[in-house]
This record gives sequence, C-alpha cells and structure tokens, in this order.
Amino acid sequence: MMNSKALVPLTDWGFGWGPDILIAGPCSAETPEQVMETVTGLTPCKPDMIRAGIWKPRTRPNSFEGVGSPGLRWLKDAGNAVGKPVCVEVANVKHVYEALRTGVEVLWIGARTTVNPFAVQEIADALEGVDIPVMVKNPVNPDLELWIGALERLQRAGINRLAAIHRGFSSYGKSKYRNHPQWDIAIELRRRIPELPMICDPSHISGVRELIPGVSQKALDLDFDGLMIESHIHPDKALSDAKQQLTPNDLYHLLQNLVWRESETKDPDYLNHLEHLREQIDEIDSQLIEMIAERMKVVVKIGEYKKRNNITILQTNRWKELMEERISWAQQKGLGEDTVSEILRNIHQESIRWQARVMNPDEEANDRVTSDHSAEV
Ligand code: PEP
Ligand code: MN
Repeated sequence: MMNSKALVPLTDWGFGWGPDILIAGPCSAETPEQVMETVTGLTPCKPDMIRAGIWKPRTRPNSFEGVGSPGLRWLKDAGNAVGKPVCVEVANVKHVYEALRTGVEVLWIGARTTVNPFAVQEIADALEGVDIPVMVKNPVNPDLELWIGALERLQRAGINRLAAIHRGFSSYGKSKYRNHPQWDIAIELRRRIPELPMICDPSHISGVRELIPGVSQKALDLDFDGLMIESHIHPDKALSDAKQQLTPNDLYHLLQNLVWRESETKDPDYLNHLEHLREQIDEIDSQLIEMIAERMKVVVKIGEYKKRNNITILQTNRWKELMEERISWAQQKGLGEDTVSEILRNIHQESIRWQARVMNPDEEANDRVTSDHSAEV
C-alpha cells in the first residue's frame, strides 16, 4: 500500500516550484551543442526542469540508442547555464549510479521499465537511502496496478518525492495517437492516490506535433500538476522522436495558448452555482442506482420464472437485440457508443449474477470471486 500521507507535493521538492510545472528538453541528448542550444532556447518557456534521454530504450535495434554517460555532463552543464534542475531516464543500476555521480537532480523510470517489477525493484534497491525525487511513467500496457506497484517499490526504498507521468498506452492497430491516452486510467490513479503529483507527457501520447496542444490542454483541464514536453533545436534532424519534438519557439507559442485552470476558487457565486448543479447530479445518481436496483428486482422475477420452466439464464439473441436497441437510443441522445455499451455490459453482468443466485444459491460466493478481474495475481 502507498503511504499517501508521506508523499511530498511538487512545491516542496526543494526546487522552488509552484503548483504546476513544465519539464522540457530534447527526447535525447545528441551533442553538447544540441543540448545547450535547445536548453538556452527554452528560456522564454520558463521550464521548471530540463529533460533529456541519455540511454534510449528503442523498439528495434540499430536505431540511435543514446549517447550514454557523456551526455549526462552536457545536460548538467546546460541545466547549470540556465539555473534549472535536470532529469534523466534510468533503466538499470548502472544508469542510477552514473546519474547520481553527475549530480542529476531528478530521475524518471520509463514506460518500458515500469512494466518489469524486477527492473523497478533493482532501481529501488539502488536508491535505498538516497534522497532523490523519482518520476514513474505509466507502463506501456494499460495496467494501473503495475504503475502503482512501481511507485510502491520506490516508496518502500524511502523515496517520498514521487510523481507519476502519464505518457499513454500502446495498442495494436491504427490510432491517431502514438500511445492512447486512456485518461480514465490516469483519473483512477488520481482517485486512488490524490496526494501523488501527476505530470502528463503529451509528446509521447501524441507522437506527432499537431496533437500536442489538444492533449496538453486536456491534461490541464483534468488538473494534472505539470507537463513534460519534448523540444529540440532542430526537430526534423532529431535522432529520436523527430515527428513529435517542437522547436523551443513553437513550444513557447503552444504554452501561450494553453489555459492553466485553477483547481479551486473561493468565489461565493461560483461555489453556490456549482453546489446547485452538484445537487442535481447527486439526485440523478441516486435515481440511477434506484433504477438499477429496480431492474434487479425484475431480473430476479425473470430468474425465478426461468428456473420454474428450466430455461438457461443467458439468452444470446435477446442480449444482442437489447444491446443494439439501447445503443441506438443512446446515440440519439448523443452518448458515446463505447461508454454506453460498457455500462450495459456491466448491468447485464450484474443481472446475470442476480439470476445465478436464484438458480444456484450455493454458487454465489464463487461467482463473486471470478467476476473480480482486478483480484491480486
Ligand atoms: C522518453 O521520455 O523519451 C521516453 C523514452 O519515454 P517513454 O518511456 O514514455 O516511452
Ligand atoms: Mn522521446
């Protein structure tokens, strides 16, 4: 379990940050000049921290795999030149030692490392007794428990300056995103550990420059605590992630157009009106629950009737017709097909559970266990 009380907010990480931060810098350090020119070029963007990949985890061999240790010095020198802390990705113990030796201020764990509990544990062990902040990117696969597990391993090693970085999830097949945002997973993480600072990485979600503004704004609207955006002095010549990197100047314009919303206000008019609207939501939600409970009563009657007549619970044709009809009702109301079918599937599963209880009262306990897919492995 995470000890959320011990987590340190970004404002207390010791770098003089406000509540919202910007991390910017190249995908990869390539040459001392490229790092220095990019970082000094970023000054108008007022980044709070500078990033660069030193060791690059690449999907295929024979791609540029990073400049390795010498890049740490280039990054540190550039950070010193603009008076900002720097962060790098570490994927093994050697990376950790070299980054610490060079005085890198913050480490992050990449998406391909978060998936592997052995690798994360090794990094956590290497950091035992070291007081350095660590940011943990989500695993490439949409598995919230794995993401939380990595954070827990680091906290157990004594690290409480922790943050999560949402960089989207890979999926097979075509998508407009390089890594699908699946915002619901990030929102669930926020719900589970509200004290954990959360940073969004719109560059790796987007994969192409054009999508970065929209993804960034969405993250801010969802009250993320910061953005990590890749910037390169000559993006088209970048040795990695060329399509998604922005020039410092383009990043400056993007930032000008973003609206950083407040997460709270004390304005009484706003609060009153919001309260009024929230009461309506509360009422609607209570009716929704009431209706679902009503539905279950009818479901039980059907179950009893089927049992008396020795008929199966699941009637695939009826279910198919019902789904199609409900989805078309929902579409007429402008509701998303995926969302509605997910809700219906859940209601249907609950109905089956209620009917199963009627048919086989003894099986109920088993049923509970097998329907809980999030159970610990
Ligand atoms: C990166 O930040 O350059 C990187 C490799 O990211 P990720 O681990 O999210 O793929
Ligand atoms: Mn990158």
